[in-house]
Amino acid sequence: MRARIAVLPGDGIGPEVAREARACLEQVASLAGHAFQFLELPIGSAAIDACGTPLPDATLEGCLASDAVFLGAVGDPKHDALPAHQKPEKGLLALRKGLGAFANIRPAFLHPALVNASPLRPEVVRGTDLVIVRELAGGLYFGEPRSLTEDTGTNTLAYSRFEVERIARVAFELAMGRRRKVTSVDKANVLESSLLWRSVVKEVAQGYPEVALEHQYVDSCAMAIVTRPTSFDVVVTDNLFGDILSDEASVLTGSLGMLPSASLGGKVGLYEPVHGSAPDIKGRGVANPLGAILSAAMLLRHSLGLEAEAAALEAAVGRTLDAGYGTPDLKCGRNHVSTRGLADLVRVNVG
Ligand code: ATP
Ligand code: MG
Repeated sequence: MRARIAVLPGDGIGPEVAREARACLEQVASLAGHAFQFLELPIGSAAIDACGTPLPDATLEGCLASDAVFLGAVGDPKHDALPAHQKPEKGLLALRKGLGAFANIRPAFLHPALVNASPLRPEVVRGTDLVIVRELAGGLYFGEPRSLTEDTGTNTLAYSRFEVERIARVAFELAMGRRRKVTSVDKANVLESSLLWRSVVKEVAQGYPEVALEHQYVDSCAMAIVTRPTSFDVVVTDNLFGDILSDEASVLTGSLGMLPSASLGGKVGLYEPVHGSAPDIKGRGVANPLGAILSAAMLLRHSLGLEAEAAALEAAVGRTLDAGYGTPDLKCGRNHVSTRGLADLVRVNVG
């Protein structure tokens, strides 16, 4: 197949890991006979330097004209002093909005070779393989009215039936390709928005009789994620709860550098590692490229429909970890290699 992929390297370690992810996509394409065309575009601090704005029009237009978007990371301390609306991070928010994504998918998979890299006990985390589906376009972060006076800060938490239905459907579809369990997380003992959430999720579940649905309150779910993580398959929740629970789930997997993500539902899918620009390790060749490479695998699966190629890339990451290699963030007696060195091993393992 032919596909056009926009690559936005961004800042800090973003370009270092994006380069490796792109090389993996090129490797997969050449093995399977696909023609991928890459379009590199500026975002974040790099775009402020080059064009004076964190999301140039040409970047958004290039993304909208592509089949998928891959992003490294944005943010550079040198622009910390800029007003909030001009900061590099604004570029990413504007991009998500411009693409129209409403579903943030964050898998937390603990590779068996990394059970000792997690701060939690091996017997608790062994077998962790869950996905958090976070509603990304609504809820408390966008609700109106919102205001701030000297005495009162106000935000509004509101969800419409339409918004809940579409995110619930993403979760059930994902669960159909996995272990067929959905945990819907809310605070229905206190919040009206959660009462609607719960009842709409139940309605959507009727269309998926093979999928087991359970409901959990967010407070008890927060405990369960670190005490019995293997009891979860797909977790679907709102924007605020999803923000918190997905960061919490990330500790299960051993390193922030291991985690991929996808933002779906808009005109074009956006794929990026969960970690940020990590200015403290920029340019040292120690950044873990696996979160970026696993994000590239999600791109193959969700935007290009290349399931076999996605699985092959994930399996290559697994074999590389099984062989004992890793970057220095994986502190469990690994053979430490550089960003490039680890990605090269993954590419060898793809075949
Ligand atoms: P942001 O605000 O951009 O989300 P952050 O403050 O959450 O950034 P990161 O930039 O993700 O943080 O980095 C947090 C810590 O994790 C840093 O010490 C960083 O060096 C480390 N880190 C992040 N990504 C990686 C990676 N891919 N490989 C190794 N270490 C990483
Ligand atoms: Mg962060």
